[in-house]
Amino acid sequence: MLSPATDPPATNLRLDAPDLGAAALELGGLTKVFQVGRGGKKVTAVNDVTLQIGRGEVLALVGESGSGKSTIARLIAHLHEPTRGTIKLGGQTIPNRLGGSALRRFRKNVQMIFQDPYGSLNGLNTVGYILSRPLQIHGLARGREVAAQVNALLERVGLAPGAVWALKKPHELSGGQRQRVVIARALAARPTLILADEPTSALDVSIRLDIMNLLLDLKDQEGLSMLFITHDLAGARYMADRVAVMYTGHIVEIGPSEAVIEAPQMPYTQLLRSAAPKPEEAMRPERVEARGEVPDLSNLPPGCPFEPRCPHARAACKDGLPRMYQVGPGHSARCILHDPELAKQPPLRPEASA
Ligand code: ADP
Ligand code: MG
Repeated sequence: MLSPATDPPATNLRLDAPDLGAAALELGGLTKVFQVGRGGKKVTAVNDVTLQIGRGEVLALVGESGSGKSTIARLIAHLHEPTRGTIKLGGQTIPNRLGGSALRRFRKNVQMIFQDPYGSLNGLNTVGYILSRPLQIHGLARGREVAAQVNALLERVGLAPGAVWALKKPHELSGGQRQRVVIARALAARPTLILADEPTSALDVSIRLDIMNLLLDLKDQEGLSMLFITHDLAGARYMADRVAVMYTGHIVEIGPSEAVIEAPQMPYTQLLRSAAPKPEEAMRPERVEARGEVPDLSNLPPGCPFEPRCPHARAACKDGLPRMYQVGPGHSARCILHDPELAKQPPLRPEASA
């Protein structure tokens, strides 16, 4: 259970004075259990996730639909309250329950970009009004500075001249233009961390690369850190310094993008990779869906959650959740095949592993 008494008082949040030696974001044992339906059924959407994002780093989170990616982003953004675990921003522990001015200060630092640029902009307002709100809420501009900053934001995301785009309403924009406005709105608060949840999935294939390049440019210019959620391995490789692979709420592999994607060490990542489109067609819209299905989260096997689908499964895989094994520099995988003794066990499905 959460014990609010152990949360530091929110008034001590000094997000304007981060510890520059600390990671931009650190998650420690982050867990979210949802109650579903009336039968007391529980789903552990995020299970004991520990990871860090360095300053100026992009970490991609990949995995099939239902693996817990969005729930992680929503926990970090304080849209859900964690069941267990800690979130640190710039070295500072953030209380799991935040409200009022502390939540506002937190949100200034951590901005989210969602998949659907249609749903995330209020159609009644002009683009200029939409972008003026965060500037005003966070006290970043006043009076005539507001319009000047709105225009500058629009031009920074490629919508020039800003004064013209500021007068438009969301329905007058294409999907890509709307996502640029959403990105400008996120930047307006001058965040330190961006949580981008499948920001290109709803967009036309032809403009996905433009939006990814825009995010990379802005990250470099602003020194932002980013969690980039995607189900597309090629997009992860393009965007991220490191990749974390999720399955049934667990991180199952994490490491430098090139190592994880070109030489995956967890059979689940290998399956994702074999199901992914070839690099030359990487920007095509097919979803990365591997063979078999994500198991029922309310009824997971006691051992490795991937064991029922795994072509290399051993008897030991049923014994308990495997630990993370170091498989290379900064690279680890949750698979007993990296344990020299356990890997000697005969495969349970020799025909599949052949
Ligand atoms: P992903 O983004 O990887 O597709 P999600 O984080 O959206 O995965 O979902 C992970 C699991 O948590 C799914 O089984 C989903 O049904 C469940 N889940 C997500 N949000 C809720 C919620 N608010 N209430 C109950 N279950 C939820
Ligand atoms: Mg999602």
